[in-house]
Amino acid sequence: MRKIEHLGIAVKDLTASNELFSKLLNVPPYKTESVESEGVNTAFFQMGETKIELLEATNPDSPIAKFIEKRGEGIHHIAFDVTDIYAEVARLKAEGFTVLNETPKPGADNKLVVFLHPKSTNGVLIELCQEK
Ligand code: ZN
Repeated sequence: MRKIEHLGIAVKDLTASNELFSKLLNVPPYKTESVESEGVNTAFFQMGETKIELLEATNPDSPIAKFIEKRGEGIHHIAFDVTDIYAEVARLKAEGFTVLNETPKPGADNKLVVFLHPKSTNGVLIELCQEK
C-alpha cells in the first residue's frame, strides 16, 4: 500500500455536492464519470497527491443508494493505491481479510479495484486500486 489514493464520499445529489466541494476546496472537479456496472456517477477533486471522490447513486439498487439509506451521506470508503493488486489480494486473504471481489474489476478513474468487506476492517469499506 503506497498511499491513500482517494476518499469516497456518498452524496444524494452530485450536482449540488460538486458545487459545495468546489467552494470548499476552491477547485472544480477534474473529472466526472459514470460507472454503469456499479450504478454510480462520480466526480473527482485533486488534493495534492490525494483525491476526493463523490459518489451518487444512479438507481435504487446501487450500493451507494443502500449506504445512504442505512447511514446517510458521508464517508463511504478509503482507497489505497497499490502497485500489484493481485499480490495484495493474495496477501490480505492470507491475513484473514474478507475480499468482496477477488478478481479486480474496472472502477472509475482508469483503475482496477478490489473491495474488502467492512466487517473485516473495523467497519470501514476499503478499496484497493491500481492504475490500469
Ligand atoms: Zn473509490
